[in-house]
Amino acid sequence: EQDPRIKGIAASIRVVPDFPKKGIMFQDITTLLLEPEAFKNTVDLFVERYSGKNISVVAVGRAHSLTALPSQTYRFNMCFIIVGSFACLMIDLHQWKTAKGIEARGFIFGPPIALAIGAKFVPLRKPRKLPGEVISERYVLEYGTDCLEMHVGAIQPCDRALVVDDLVATGGTLRAAMNLLERAGAEVVECACVIELPELKGRDRLNGKPLYVLMESR
Ligand code: AMP
Repeated sequence: EQDPRIKGIAASIRVVPDFPKKGIMFQDITTLLLEPEAFKNTVDLFVERYSGKNISVVAVGRAHSLTALPSQTYRFNMCFIIVGSFACLMIDLHQWKTAKGIEARGFIFGPPIALAIGAKFVPLRKPRKLPGEVISERYVLEYGTDCLEMHVGAIQPCDRALVVDDLVATGGTLRAAMNLLERAGAEVVECACVIELPELKGRDRLNGKPLYVLMESR
């Protein structure tokens, strides 16, 4: 049965049809951020789930693409690159747990979760943004490829990671973040998003790792 706070969170998210391109139902979480109670409830729901679970959070949120969902067909229409991509990873230094947040909008939800559960936060970013030595993960979009980078040394082999993003569509972003973490030796415990677009079956692309979402949309 659903937590009563989720209704208010869902109501605070604006859906913008045909943005940034025809066929895309854009899930705009900026309106959620305008409602302090909804924003707090969102963070609290994740904090309640991950507190005391040996997790050092990560917020992932590299919004690289948007997926159009023409009625009835599962047609992928990757079409838009959002600038300011920024993913993050948080790790609990004391308990060797890791939580990870992805990109621009992952950065909104990841840090407050990390602070609340006492986790470190590691940014995952698009290429040539991080000044130190990096490892990169290239991943395939419908048209071309994209890339996420993470600082070498940000993750320790015994870290337990949580990948956080605002929304899962095809799952490509979460998958790339998971690959980076696992290559660095971390254990990915779970992926967590506010919204899932279930018709795109992103859940099935996560290598069997669990995905927790607050709500579904179409
Ligand atoms: P994907 O890698 O296909 O799972 O896409 C997830 C990323 O793209 C997330 O970081 C989202 O912010 C962004 N995204 C994809 N589709 C939408 C949508 N319909 N509305 C808002 N953001 C989206």
